[in-house]
Amino acid sequence: MCPIVDIDREECTGCGLCYNDECPEVFVEGDSGLSDIKVEFRSGEPGQGKIPESLRVCAEKAADACPVSAIEVIED
Ligand code: SF4
Repeated sequence: MCPIVDIDREECTGCGLCYNDECPEVFVEGDSGLSDIKVEFRSGEPGQGKIPESLRVCAEKAADACPVSAIEVIED
């Protein structure tokens, strides 16, 4: 089972903690200035994707660090 990552675009402030500091392996700054899932892991919307198990801890670190709790890491 691969973890699903969801970024709440209404909550994200574009602070950059996830894509600059905690987990640039999964997150990237999008055109809108908000956090996007990197293209290779994306499933449709820029804020949603499916990541390999090996990146779960990385994504969870970003979720914990996000100041507005906009990132969710959930099971498929
Ligand atoms: S840490 Fe949270 S608020 Fe900051 S860019 Fe990432 S998702 Fe957005």
